[in-house]
Amino acid sequence: MTLWICATCGVEHADTPEPPAECAICSDERQWVPRTGQAWTTAEQLREADIQVELRDVEPGLVAVTSSPQVGIGQQCMLVVTPSGNLLFDPIGYVDADAAARVLEYGSVLAIAASHPHMYGAQVSWSHALGDVPVLVNEADAEWVRRPDAVIRHFGATLELAPGLALHTLGGHFAGSTAALWDAGADGRGVLLAGDAIFPNPNGASVSFMRSYPNLLPLSAATVERVSSRALELRFDRLYNNFGRSVPENAHEVVRTSADRYIAWVSGVHDDLT
Ligand SMILES: [Zn+2]
Repeated sequence: MTLWICATCGVEHADTPEPPAECAICSDERQWVPRTGQAWTTAEQLREADIQVELRDVEPGLVAVTSSPQVGIGQQCMLVVTPSGNLLFDPIGYVDADAAARVLEYGSVLAIAASHPHMYGAQVSWSHALGDVPVLVNEADAEWVRRPDAVIRHFGATLELAPGLALHTLGGHFAGSTAALWDAGADGRGVLLAGDAIFPNPNGASVSFMRSYPNLLPLSAATVERVSSRALELRFDRLYNNFGRSVPENAHEVVRTSADRYIAWVSGVHDDLT
């Protein structure tokens, strides 16, 4: 079985004799194809590459899962641990039996989900390694699944996974951009795993919003109003993205003030300064 994995984004594709002509996720205007052309690796090649999967506690009940070297975009996957079972969010593009066993040391995995298609990684391979747990795909982004499988389930606007753990559609970057809300996080004040629907800036005290981060395509004022309003309906005090950045505290207020700032700039309020 040849699982083709896009070398640029790390998303696994269906088993075919020859690799696909292109990765639809990378040829989309939100991602990029190298100037040298589409490149592929395979699950087998990655297994031979001595990739180390690393698990690191971020805060009590939250574990970062990364690999060295990184595969594809190199996101920081998050394992959310709850008494009712765990969520693997934004899975990386590589898994082996040892990595799956170490994830299961934290308890059974209820489901795997990604914040958006750039983060699908090796989601089906992770599912198979964890006992065929469901892979939850936002129905608004279903067309982007590159490796269909019986473990995939679709969900709509919100999905309660366990007491105090739910998926919420925010939209924006992708129509189905999804955040995971974990009530017990941040010492009970609530954590939002926002993928890159809401992106913390380097100071951890403001955030921004983009249609494309690598290609610097903005979103409209109306879209950021919609995305931020959906997020502000939720109770959280800390926000993490998918690359190890966070807003450690007051994240709810930070989302509100940052959305106001963004909307003012793209609406021309400050054009006299440019
Ligand atoms: Zn790709």
